[in-house]
Amino acid sequence: LYILGIDTSCDDTGVGIAQLGAGGVQVRANRIWTQAVHAQYGGVMPELASREHVERIDAVMADALEEAGLKVSDIGAVAATAGPGLVGALLVGLMYGKGLAQALDVPFFAAHHLEGHIFAAASEESLEAPYLALVVSGGHTHLFDVPEEGRYVLVGATRDDAAGEAFDKIARLAGLGYPGGPAIAEAALRGNPDAVPFKEPLQGQKAFEFSFSGLKTAALLAHKAGAAPEDLAASFQRAAVHVLVKTTRRAAETYGRRTVVVSGGVAANTALREAFAATDLHVVFPGKGLNTDNGAMIALAGAAALRAGRPPSPLAAGATAYAPLASG
Ligand code: ATP
Ligand code: FE
Repeated sequence: LYILGIDTSCDDTGVGIAQLGAGGVQVRANRIWTQAVHAQYGGVMPELASREHVERIDAVMADALEEAGLKVSDIGAVAATAGPGLVGALLVGLMYGKGLAQALDVPFFAAHHLEGHIFAAASEESLEAPYLALVVSGGHTHLFDVPEEGRYVLVGATRDDAAGEAFDKIARLAGLGYPGGPAIAEAALRGNPDAVPFKEPLQGQKAFEFSFSGLKTAALLAHKAGAAPEDLAASFQRAAVHVLVKTTRRAAETYGRRTVVVSGGVAANTALREAFAATDLHVVFPGKGLNTDNGAMIALAGAAALRAGRPPSPLAAGATAYAPLASG
């Protein structure tokens, strides 16, 4: 069975296809159109994002079908992100997906963007609850416990900036360009991680909270004091990786979990992957091209919903900007 997944939550038009068979699930296609129009404004312009999604989604969909070697009539289920994200942008993919599902007379699943990020790791191995999930992206640094399939308990989150946001802001500060994550990772290879002493961020009131604003301030001060961009990048990256791994390890111990899914754009970071790999945890990362926003991760989340026997979503399901994943 082929599941089509669509994500238009922000400024990437993503369409992917997953195949669900007796042997498990596999990614068959993953096509992304990244909107360049926002660069001149230094941030995402919601109205422009919606328009570009409308203009591009047909072409991205055709590319995905071609990559998988399929016809549209081969699609057996459709999943599209319903939130969280920019409502106008979300609506494009959501309406497109619903229309397609109705035309093909196949089940439709309204997907949660963060569940998509988590299920991106299902490209590597089948995710069987219980496990812990750390989502580190441009807008989230959220640690969930997943005691059973489809149930998410919030263990901790950032109380200020998201991890990816901190990479982006510090890269901009150091003049390393955008997107900041890859720029910091690249510059860090040439820098000295001991050059700038970052204090470990303070623990929040709650045991597994994260905070990145302190690192950002320390980076600003070091930059003003003349720290080299490479040194700043290497030192910040090490501090950020350290706190992410340490907090996750403590949570895994407390919750008695051995398997940890680490996903979202920052999960593409090599230093983070190496640090997690060096722990005693069983860590699962998304496959190549599945860390940042994409449609395949939504197809994988749809496949998981099908496999778990979740009922399809009503076609009246709407888009929501704010949608917490944790159900308690
Ligand atoms: P959200 O899913 O929370 O709404 P988003 O979809 O915008 O946010 P993603 O696309 O998952 O976020 O990830 C983008 C973030 O990942 C950016 O902040 C980017 O800098 C960061 N990132 C990408 N590659 C790397 C890398 N190699 N190292 C560190 N960070 C990275
Ligand atoms: Fe995302």
